[in-house]
Amino acid sequence: MRLILLGPPGAGKGTQAQRLIHDYGIVQLSTGDMLRAAVADGTPVGLKAKDIMASGGLVPDDVVIGIISDRLDQPDAARGFILDGFPRTVPQAEALDQLLDSKKLNLDAAIELRVDERALLQRVETRVAEMKARGEQVRSDDTPEVLSKRLTSYRTLTEPLIRYYSERGKLLTVDGMMAVEDVTRDIRHVLRRSGVPASKFGVRRW
Ligand code: AMP
Repeated sequence: MRLILLGPPGAGKGTQAQRLIHDYGIVQLSTGDMLRAAVADGTPVGLKAKDIMASGGLVPDDVVIGIISDRLDQPDAARGFILDGFPRTVPQAEALDQLLDSKKLNLDAAIELRVDERALLQRVETRVAEMKARGEQVRSDDTPEVLSKRLTSYRTLTEPLIRYYSERGKLLTVDGMMAVEDVTRDIRHVLRRSGVPASKFGVRRW
């Protein structure tokens, strides 16, 4: 199964991806995680991405397309994957279509987590407070100022993908404001209803 998760920062894409990979036996491919690893390792990609990420901007399309293209060729992606944070622009979506075409692979669905943007700030503040309380390191782009820039990027550059996938008959929308387990249940439900093959592993009870 090959899926995309769409939604603004803080919508819960990473959390839902983690739950779905267990259900469906596929891998989560998060460009944000890959870029953060590149920054931590000080690779050439990391050096390019560091300041852009810290300020809430988008890393250039060719950089993330290159990362994803390499990652899709890894053996663990052969059984399927869930893309979290990619594509984020129409050129990235077009490049993904070309990549999948060239590998004779099909995209099953793009799942949009629809959320109330005003609630996102609150969510980020709660997440940061919880991480601090656990003594964990807080992401440098998890501040209200940077979040508002990330939301602007989302609105202008990523939101057009809702239409892009809707026009191609791939879009499935789920209310992302519900409790985590209810969102997961709805995702499974819309996938089943749209005829996406069910999990080989049965449905896990959360
Ligand atoms: P995320 O963890 O998905 O919120 O991503 C964190 C940051 O990494 C974003 O704010 C961007 O700066 C960068 N990033 C992640 N994925 C992409 C992408 N597909 N295109 C451009 N920049 C990205």
